[in-house]
Amino acid sequence: MPHFANPLYRFLAGKLSPSGVSARLSILIYHRVLPQTDPLFPGEATIDTFNAQMALLKSMFNILPLHEAAARLKAGTLPARSACITFDDGYADNVTNALPILQKHGLHATFFIATSYLNGGRMFNDTVIESVRCSNQETLDLRDMNLGNHRLSSNAERAAAIEDILPKVKYLPLEIRQETVANIARRAGAGNLPDDLMMTTAQLKTLHAAGMEIGGHTHRHPILANLNDADARNEIAVGKTWLEDTLGSRIRLFAYPNGKPGTDYLPDQAKIVRELGFDAAVSTHPGISIKSSDPFQLSRFTPWSNSRYSFAAQLIKNIHGAATINESTRRH
Ligand SMILES: [Zn+2]
Repeated sequence: MPHFANPLYRFLAGKLSPSGVSARLSILIYHRVLPQTDPLFPGEATIDTFNAQMALLKSMFNILPLHEAAARLKAGTLPARSACITFDDGYADNVTNALPILQKHGLHATFFIATSYLNGGRMFNDTVIESVRCSNQETLDLRDMNLGNHRLSSNAERAAAIEDILPKVKYLPLEIRQETVANIARRAGAGNLPDDLMMTTAQLKTLHAAGMEIGGHTHRHPILANLNDADARNEIAVGKTWLEDTLGSRIRLFAYPNGKPGTDYLPDQAKIVRELGFDAAVSTHPGISIKSSDPFQLSRFTPWSNSRYSFAAQLIKNIHGAATINESTRRH
């Protein structure tokens, strides 16, 4: 497809996002890059759509490493149309599928890793998703767990079941959340669920050796706002130390799990992140960041369209402050 509309989008991005002290920094969030379209989540990026998005992004923006962009935002020296690419959680497909595309386009990205799920672990959301996907039952009755009764006879019904269950499970205390998703897996009768969704240590090292930045995302991906200060500090510190010991380099950036300010993390926890020796941190509050933004609560935006032109339009709207938020509860 020709890139005939790019000069217009590039022009608009430059108008809305000038250089220097008035700069507006866009930071994008990704989670997975799938080999092909997932029938349960047709909006999730695939190798093809990610490749097209990176080409478009490169034509519209100056893509900077997040660490450099955060420092230059504060110093008032960002170029016009600055943007950064980030990935959350540590999915193996970030290395197998996204890394070659980033390298092909010469783009830098930062990967925030929840360390406890590396090497064969599985995040709670994926236990729910894969249980529902792999169940051969017509219905999944979780009423005794206050999680509803779900029909599973089509992909649409399976997707609806996941969208209904995940938000109810997400805010449970960590241990109860683990127990609950294990019960859902048993109830779904889905058999062995995949244990290769997340990176191995070797894959993490490949990403780091390729020049990509690795950032902290806690150890077990709890909702920090639900933890006391000591537990929150410990979750953040354990993840940071594990990454530093494994990679032999300082971990400078952090992403709050789930990431909504006031709901998923609290101002005091931004203070803890600063005290633990990070240089900057990112939320999932949409929009852009400016010179006066708190470097420990930089905004990020999830582009969610697989159509090239609405993807570009979403990026422009986000800079303009009119971003529509993707309400999909699958990730974070
Ligand atoms: Zn996350």
